[in-house]
Amino acid sequence: MSRHWAAAIPILCVVLVALLVPVLPLADPLHIDVARQLAASSAAHLLGQDEYGRDVLSRLLWGARTTLAVSIAASLLACIGGVVLGLVGGTLRGVTELLTVRSMDVILCFPPLLLALLVVTLVGPGASTLIPVLAVLYLPGFTRVVYAGVLSLRTADFVEAVRVLGGGPLRIMLRTILPNIAGPIMVQLSLATASAIVLESGLSFLGLGVVPPAASWGLMIGAARATMVQAPLLLLWPCLALVFTIFAMNLLCDAVRDAMEPRTQTPRRLRDRLLPGLFRPSPAQLLQIEDLTVEIVAPSGPIRPVRGVSVSVAPGETLAVVGESGSGKSLTGLAAIGLLPDIARIAEGDVSLAGQDIRRATPNALRRLRGAAVGMVFQDALGSLNPVHTIGAQIMEAIAAHRRLPGTAARREAVRLLEEVGIADPQRRLSAYPHELSGGMRQRAMIAMAIANDPRLLIADEPTTALDVTIQAQVLELLARLRRDRGMALLFITHNLPVVAEIADRVAVMYAGAIVEEGPAADVLDRPLHPYTRALLESVPGLLGRLPEPIGGTVPMPNALPPGCLFAPRCGYAEAACDTAPLPLVTARPRHRTSCRRWKEVA
Ligand code: SF4
Repeated sequence: MSRHWAAAIPILCVVLVALLVPVLPLADPLHIDVARQLAASSAAHLLGQDEYGRDVLSRLLWGARTTLAVSIAASLLACIGGVVLGLVGGTLRGVTELLTVRSMDVILCFPPLLLALLVVTLVGPGASTLIPVLAVLYLPGFTRVVYAGVLSLRTADFVEAVRVLGGGPLRIMLRTILPNIAGPIMVQLSLATASAIVLESGLSFLGLGVVPPAASWGLMIGAARATMVQAPLLLLWPCLALVFTIFAMNLLCDAVRDAMEPRTQTPRRLRDRLLPGLFRPSPAQLLQIEDLTVEIVAPSGPIRPVRGVSVSVAPGETLAVVGESGSGKSLTGLAAIGLLPDIARIAEGDVSLAGQDIRRATPNALRRLRGAAVGMVFQDALGSLNPVHTIGAQIMEAIAAHRRLPGTAARREAVRLLEEVGIADPQRRLSAYPHELSGGMRQRAMIAMAIANDPRLLIADEPTTALDVTIQAQVLELLARLRRDRGMALLFITHNLPVVAEIADRVAVMYAGAIVEEGPAADVLDRPLHPYTRALLESVPGLLGRLPEPIGGTVPMPNALPPGCLFAPRCGYAEAACDTAPLPLVTARPRHRTSCRRWKEVA
């Protein structure tokens, strides 16, 4: 038996006793025997008799039943209410958030005990009053735990991955986010139950809880206080029961926390996603981005991390978008499928994906598009896969988002997909959780999910960055094979130029939110026409057959761009004219464009 389960034994014993009380051979807890008031223990009354001659053991065990019933019922009610309010408020935000989550702050303004006293005094004592009163008291705690969990997960990679696959808000709430915050909710449930036991006993002690002559630990303690000189043990038994139960609940809390923690670690938040767009309109383009500008509202005012990006991807083509961190690569990729984070928006330009205008598409239309016409693979496969579902369940969910397949057929399809992406023993791997797979296998599983509905375009955002060199090569080979076998187009976002050389048909180089060079991969990599591209190539160890040279300086921040050429502060070719207005992309060679005014010298 695991350590976690062992910790649950004490509280399970208490609950078991409370459940079995009606069938145990106990004296009637309400039977009064005035002649034997405060009698000591005997064979018939093991713990003695109270001030009315009632059996103390019987009242103690029946009291456990009352106390636990009130506490557990109140905690469960609060839990259900809090989960609904927290999920809805955290997911829908806006006015809904105000009405659901912020309204809980009003309840939190009142000290819990005083609020309970006030309500019970006004409404009257009794278990039927205590349960809703305690539930309201614990409702804000659950709501805030769930709300915080939703906020921390709503932009997690694996949630984004479900969105990419076309999952709707309800599915994301219930199947993706809720299982991942089950741990904190369970811990909150055990804490609330322990607290409710204390509060119920306290109110009963004050005469505002369970109504006499019903048995309750609080009532027993209150009554024993008056006779503590003559019969001190009458005070001891209910206190011991209370202490033991609270201790057992605390053990359960710790065990729940420990058991759930490994599966509920907050996944890494989405990396900065910056990605630019590409160019030239053509009716044959699968993805067409024109003059895309993405705006982010920052505390210091709006900034534009992507500006005037125009790119396109034709069916079956591989376009690599390269650049340093902060160049706008990933943000452009997210804009392409309508998945910009809440703080960002498309300020200008148009995005057309598989003929669908992304800016004007309804949420339902976008969901139908994602996962079906376009799939996406992220860098962090561990963060992108849901840690509480098996690989098989996640692939089958991806299939179910767009296709109606019976369970066995979906399972067969999941096995086939795992085979296609090169995972050995796919039947067995279906039952594996993400943490049980190696990094390479996780990335293969992510790719299997992304291609589950045969998309025409796959967007791969730094898919090999987190892998070692050998596995990188295998994943690249897999992507190239899938593209070839399925006739899929590939938008490959990376900062890794050697990878680009292996996989891309065309390359777009992004710098500080704009495209600075674009053309056929062989041309751009062998005969670059922009000093930035050249510098990127020279910074790669061994690529040009000489020692690497790091690029001096840093990418300018979007709110502090230089007035002329964006690369001027770092450029060895810079001249005075470069500090005037930036140049648009010009066609220097057939299908090869650059924004450098000195491209002839660079070439
Ligand atoms: S325009 Fe001038 S500063 Fe900019 S890359 Fe070309 S040479 Fe360098």
